[in-house]
Amino acid sequence: DTRVKRITETITAHPDFPKPGILFRDIFSVLAEPSVFRDLTDVLTERARAARPAPDVVVGLESRGFLFGTPLALALKIPFVPVRKKGKLPGELKQVSFTLEYGSDVFEAQVGNIKAGQKVLIVDDLLATGGSMKAACDLVTSMGATVSLCLVCIELGDLKGKEKLRHPFDTIVKY
Ligand code: IMP
Repeated sequence: DTRVKRITETITAHPDFPKPGILFRDIFSVLAEPSVFRDLTDVLTERARAARPAPDVVVGLESRGFLFGTPLALALKIPFVPVRKKGKLPGELKQVSFTLEYGSDVFEAQVGNIKAGQKVLIVDDLLATGGSMKAACDLVTSMGATVSLCLVCIELGDLKGKEKLRHPFDTIVKY
């Protein structure tokens, strides 16, 4: 797929960011090239359309998941729902705690936006250890919904994050 090739060539890599030893993959270089961003949105939409069961809501993970989840939800004509870090969303919330390399964090979603029985597509920019995506899956399933697909733009294969997930997974680019 020439689009995937273009996307792969456009993503920049930054050694030693944000810490020594980390090679940071920067998806914002794609957003700076409108035709490549178009390609990425189109490919994500095709992958989402292939998901079974078909999703009836898109959940995007703070914050770069919002950049890809919103055009995806528009293309699929289904709702977009944000999952955010603790303290950012108003109203009645459902929470999940998860551990990070150092310390822990909490994800929240608004009750009522994700309904029991719905099929959810979860999207983020990148899968590293898989901790964030797994926590989002746990949050969605705790609300009685089913995860139809975990979809990311970039997978860092060495970190084996995919092995943490108990739901279908797809990525556009793998390093
Ligand atoms: P995980 O929970 O370890 O899979 O980390 C995934 C989360 O960390 C995603 O929300 C990413 O945005 C962020 N992340 C981890 N590594 C990178 C990177 O190399 N580039 C951009 N974001 C990253």
